[in-house]
Amino acid sequence: MTRRIAIVGAGQSGLQTGIGLLKSGYQVTLLSNRTGEQIRQGRVMSSQCMFDQALQTERDLGLNFWEDECPPVEGIGMTVPHSEQTGAKLIDWAAPLERYAQSVDQRLKMPVWMAEFERLGGELVIRDAGIEELEELAASHDLVLVAAGKGDIVRLFERDAERSRFDKPQRALALTYVQGMTPREDFSRVAFNLIPGVGEYFVFPSLTLNGPCEIMVFEGIPGGPMDCWQEVTTPEQHLAKSLELLRTYAPWEAARCQDVQLTDDNGILAGRFPPTVRKPVATLPSGRQVLGIADALVVNDPITGQGSNNGAKCSRVYLDAILARGDAPFDRTWMEATFETYWGYAKDVVSWTNSLLLPPAEHILELLDAAQHAPELAAMLANGFDNPPDYLPWWLDAKACRHLINEQLKLEA
Ligand SMILES: Cc1cc2nc3c(=O)[nH]c(=O)nc-3n(C[C@H](O)[C@H](O)[C@H](O)COP(=O)(O)OP(=O)(O)OC[C@H]3O[C@@H](n4cnc5c(N)ncnc54)[C@H](O)[C@@H]3O)c2cc1C
Repeated sequence: MTRRIAIVGAGQSGLQTGIGLLKSGYQVTLLSNRTGEQIRQGRVMSSQCMFDQALQTERDLGLNFWEDECPPVEGIGMTVPHSEQTGAKLIDWAAPLERYAQSVDQRLKMPVWMAEFERLGGELVIRDAGIEELEELAASHDLVLVAAGKGDIVRLFERDAERSRFDKPQRALALTYVQGMTPREDFSRVAFNLIPGVGEYFVFPSLTLNGPCEIMVFEGIPGGPMDCWQEVTTPEQHLAKSLELLRTYAPWEAARCQDVQLTDDNGILAGRFPPTVRKPVATLPSGRQVLGIADALVVNDPITGQGSNNGAKCSRVYLDAILARGDAPFDRTWMEATFETYWGYAKDVVSWTNSLLLPPAEHILELLDAAQHAPELAAMLANGFDNPPDYLPWWLDAKACRHLINEQLKLEA
């Protein structure tokens, strides 16, 4: 008999998994608290830069509808301003990615994926899921996946205190989608600017509702000068504040912004949340169990731009596990084992990401500095974004990191 799977949430992981299941002959019901049109007309949600391995999971399902149209992100750049000389750079390098990254505005992508889900025979229900809906779904389906991202409903899943390093937001976040920015001369990139004591600014090309754009991402240390969005109330003020921050902390980035304008009034976002890991299974009042997926269980600070990548990779793990399960029950043991398979990957992404939220260790500053003189090292740092476990153990281990630096500098000598 055809197995029935229910999914709550029409984001990266919910839709990718739902479409993957439909393509493998499963019956899928998907609950979304917004219609495609509401998503399209709403605020931006993310900067959603995805690297090759994650993009490949979409290609494998035929979901790369914008691959030709979306500007490629061809590299990674890293700049640390000089703390004493205004306008000077202490560290500055850029390296190409072996394979390009891409960012398609989720307001563009999710409504099209929702339509594709329905075209393939999926049942799309527009409803905000609470306990009652979960109970109904759990009674009528073989498995319920909660793919609700940062939605309130994910609080059903207990916070995993051992795996969650922080209990408070570590950055004040803001997004500014713009057009008219001066392109890079050599290759397009995610240009990171690490501003000690202030926060981070990064910027890269994307595809939004009205064509190519650049996304500015601000990550302000709480209480610092980049934690400044409370008093901003209009889109015009949001853009003005973004440019003011650049002029003050990254003037070389401000120089690219002489003629920028917002893509649209909804091309802005400000907020904050604590990076959190949750236990994978929640038990409903009836005793039935539901399984979380992607951000519902592992939500990272966007500082390393990994959330959508994780969502896509988590979706792949879950899809494979569901198919491999055949007709056997999706019991608690299977649910926990499925999440642990994903966690085997995600734990490294979490520890790497969390390390960047703390003041940088001495060996990390030495590493970023050495990358200026060792292109191979810079390439290693750039390409790790595609598979962050490649950064370990050396990223977190000063001795191993210095060994790597010395080896790489010797090669250059
Ligand atoms: C500022 C910012 C910048 C980011 N930049 C990047 C980046 O550059 N690269 C990257 O990889 N990631 C980035 N991310 C993270 C990325 O956007 C998320 O990790 C990713 O979208 C998570 O996918 P998901 O499927 O878990 O959840 P989501 O994509 O959040 O989808 C959840 C869906 O569930 C719906 N929902 C919620 N509750 C309910 C309910 N009760 N009933 C029905 N539906 C519900 C929501 O409306 C939403 O549509 C960024 C995030 C932020 C906040």
